[in-house]
Amino acid sequence: ISFSDLGLAEWAVQTCKELGIKRPTPVQRHCIPRILAGQDVLGLAQTGSGKTAAFALPILHRLAEDPYGVFALVITPTRELAYQLAEQFRALGSGLHLRCAVVVGGMDMINQAQTLMQRPHVVIATPGRIKVLIQENPDDVPAVFSNTKFLVLDEADRVLDVGFEEELRVVFQCLPKDRQTLLFSATMTSDLQTLMELSANKAYFYEA
Ligand code: AMP
Repeated sequence: ISFSDLGLAEWAVQTCKELGIKRPTPVQRHCIPRILAGQDVLGLAQTGSGKTAAFALPILHRLAEDPYGVFALVITPTRELAYQLAEQFRALGSGLHLRCAVVVGGMDMINQAQTLMQRPHVVIATPGRIKVLIQENPDDVPAVFSNTKFLVLDEADRVLDVGFEEELRVVFQCLPKDRQTLLFSATMTSDLQTLMELSANKAYFYEA
């Protein structure tokens, strides 16, 4: 089975080929067609399984059909992971004129708010910083997410574990109810279960 068989556009298949990504991994094989079909996904997958491309490819495929920002918001527990995710999004989106912003602690908040107001296609954020940006710019930043199609929680067990309930609540309030939610986690937790039960779309559960 190839990336084209999963329903991805030719440009995406070509980009994968150029990156030396030839055959989809199991998490990609199962999740990509479901994400393209509009389902929410809870994927239990470890780092190294190809989970990032499993959500980045279908998001970029959809974005290319209707490019606007902010199309996708990706939340991840640490700055380092945020930069790694951005790198993968930029590589996989090199066939598009992708605008991808990283919003993490330690960087100037005024610049970050301005970056968000320019409505990048993909925003990759840590929970604490995105919450503060929303709360400190209530007239501008929440509106940036009013048409967002995808919310991703990467390493979702860690994001939920470090007590980010309050942060996530603030973020969730800015997002449309009918967005797709994609949760990727190394382990299953009761918080993940609860989040999936709130899912507005038909949910798909993947476990390796
Ligand atoms: P991840 O599990 O998302 O952390 O990905 C681990 C690494 O595997 C990344 O560096 C990807 O570029 C690479 N990768 C992703 N999908 C594939 C694939 N289908 N075949 C080979 N390598 C891949």
